[in-house]
Amino acid sequence: MANKFVGAHTSASGGVFNAVKNAEAIGAKAFALFTKNQKRWDAKPLDTKTIDLFKEALAKSGILPKHVLPHDSYLINLGHPDEQKLIKSRMAFIDELERCEILGLDRLNFHPGSHLVKLGVKDKKNPELVDKVEKECLDVIAESINIALDKTRGVKAVMENTAGQGTNLGYKFEHLAYIIDKIEDKSRIGVCIDTCHMFTAGYDIRTREVYDKTWGDFDELIGSKYLMGMHINDSKPPLGSRVDRHHSLGEGEIGLDAFKFIMNDERMDDIPLVLETIDDTIWKQEIELLYSFVK
Ligand SMILES: [Zn+2]
Ligand SMILES: [Zn+2]
Repeated sequence: MANKFVGAHTSASGGVFNAVKNAEAIGAKAFALFTKNQKRWDAKPLDTKTIDLFKEALAKSGILPKHVLPHDSYLINLGHPDEQKLIKSRMAFIDELERCEILGLDRLNFHPGSHLVKLGVKDKKNPELVDKVEKECLDVIAESINIALDKTRGVKAVMENTAGQGTNLGYKFEHLAYIIDKIEDKSRIGVCIDTCHMFTAGYDIRTREVYDKTWGDFDELIGSKYLMGMHINDSKPPLGSRVDRHHSLGEGEIGLDAFKFIMNDERMDDIPLVLETIDDTIWKQEIELLYSFVK
């Protein structure tokens, strides 16, 4: 129990310090938040009062900075094929990293990016072509991360695996491994694994046997030392559907066993385990349920 830190993505509405209060209210030992409006490009800089209130609230809560997993804006695409839009994304990403640093936080969760190339039905069946389009985009993403890390200090870039909806990359462990390989400062890159995304991307975790196989593949291709957070979600769509729709724990296609395995897996020690399940009125119960699984 002592080594698992479970929480949820809480609302920072009214100020980032409210995310801490909302986390405490549900008995969370970890949490995620947006440090700005996630649907807008611009945001005013964090003022001294807000920063102080956040740090005070966090210290009082007993939640450690490493158990807070801020999430960047949904608008950012670090693999954008359009030069101007790529520059805009890179600038916004640097701003997000700086906001984390100012708040005394050490990691930022983001989605790798999307290639946005319109592939026809025939193209999609051509693995060489798909591979080429994906690799070109992964190169751009890696370059974006290298630039951002070079221009900022201290905060780790934590990329999330995706369900592979649309042209989103990061749905294969190989994508994440490919990017990590190209990062110059490997002490500042990490991954966040979302259980719903993992499952709908085709990685089964429902029984002991397939759970061990999936995480064995993870260890082999990426390595647990890069695991710096998890999103704990059940899934509405089935295995391999490549659709991103979360569900409450035990209500979806994954079922509770996978979460029992996670709560007793040392790979998930000492990192933020964050619920993004659909019913925030039962987060407190979901956190209690997860802790009850610890043997
Ligand atoms: Zn997620
Ligand atoms: Zn999702």
